[in-house]
Amino acid sequence: MPLLEEVGEEIPLTRLDNADPQLLSELLETVAEVAREGAFTLGKHVQAFERDFAAYCEAPFAVGVSSGTEALALALRALEIGPGDEVMVPANSFIATAEAVSAIGARPLLVDVDPASGLLTAEIVAAALRPAVRCVIPVHLYGATVDLRPILEVTAQSGVPVVEDACQAHGARYRGQRVGSLGALGCFSFYPAKNLGAWGDGGAVITSDAALAQRVELLRSHGERPRYRHRRIGTTARLDALQAAVLRRKLTRLDGWNAERRRLGAALRELLAPLAGHSRSGLPTEAAIELPSSPCAEADHVYHLFVVRSSSREALREYLARKGVASAVHYPTPIHLTEAYAHLGQLTGSLPVSEELASRICSLPLFPGMSEGELERVAAAVLDFAEARPHNSR
Ligand SMILES: *Cc1c(COP(=O)(O)O)cnc(C)c1O
Repeated sequence: MPLLEEVGEEIPLTRLDNADPQLLSELLETVAEVAREGAFTLGKHVQAFERDFAAYCEAPFAVGVSSGTEALALALRALEIGPGDEVMVPANSFIATAEAVSAIGARPLLVDVDPASGLLTAEIVAAALRPAVRCVIPVHLYGATVDLRPILEVTAQSGVPVVEDACQAHGARYRGQRVGSLGALGCFSFYPAKNLGAWGDGGAVITSDAALAQRVELLRSHGERPRYRHRRIGTTARLDALQAAVLRRKLTRLDGWNAERRRLGAALRELLAPLAGHSRSGLPTEAAIELPSSPCAEADHVYHLFVVRSSSREALREYLARKGVASAVHYPTPIHLTEAYAHLGQLTGSLPVSEELASRICSLPLFPGMSEGELERVAAAVLDFAEARPHNSR
């Protein structure tokens, strides 16, 4: 194993705000101002961020909440979904999409995904719709937009609302519109590593329906309006004012960061193009490593994650680690096979596409501020691996 000095500093999967000294000091200043005011919950900082985030998403209303999971749970509660109801969720997602459904006493109906995109499709939704299903949650996974229009057509026919899980796709556009603004409600997470990240946890719900926005607003803070008049049984799920102030500053940079992610994604795709069926020596590789499917005309990809697929995933990850290139698996277990959801009784083999993906996917480093040299090192490591293994070693 080579010493780390020989391969250079490790390239991380992502970098957070502490890696950008200028941004860090700007945000520290913001935090100091809010702290000096003692304005820690709700109030003008949260309202200002909500206004800006709604405008950014081109949606009439945004409500700041404490996490992406709470955003989803409160969106479902605003739709009056609860015990006895089912909510359709793709098994190929972060577990939080299903947890939000469970948290409000409803049951997640876990369905499979399209093998090419790894996302929900109208065909899958149409096949799985049944009377108990009160809502469908498409997930714009990794920053790639779900083909929503046909899904919205199918669900509208059955009078079933769509809640978009846009927790990995802030700012992405689908047919010209920002994701999150097409469904009845759209949900976002501001977990630090997301495309728009706070300095801790945070989330938001966007909608064009004033009544739904008001319900989410009530529910996030004890159903209270005005003070001590409790209209509904709510909870403590507010966005902190400190986080709101940090997010508001960062929001002005989000389009720039997403543009950089798209550029880096396209460049990495280009660098890895030799993997499309052939090794660099011209020998067929049997596509030992597959690239993420590229966005079609009306779709977008803001590369929250750059995810390749390999039947030799573990060997690839070991090789990358030796070359000082970080990698990760998002996610190693499809939701229906987690211990947490064993009670649903959906056994191995029940959602084969999600299961196959979980065994093959590998996330590579990609983040704003990544240098050309870093990008080239990532690509070289992947290409070298593919070169050394011209055939699928299943
Ligand atoms: C991050 C994420 C969530 C949950 O967000 P938290 O803020 O961590 O609660 C939900 N769905 C998806 C797809 C996510 O990536």
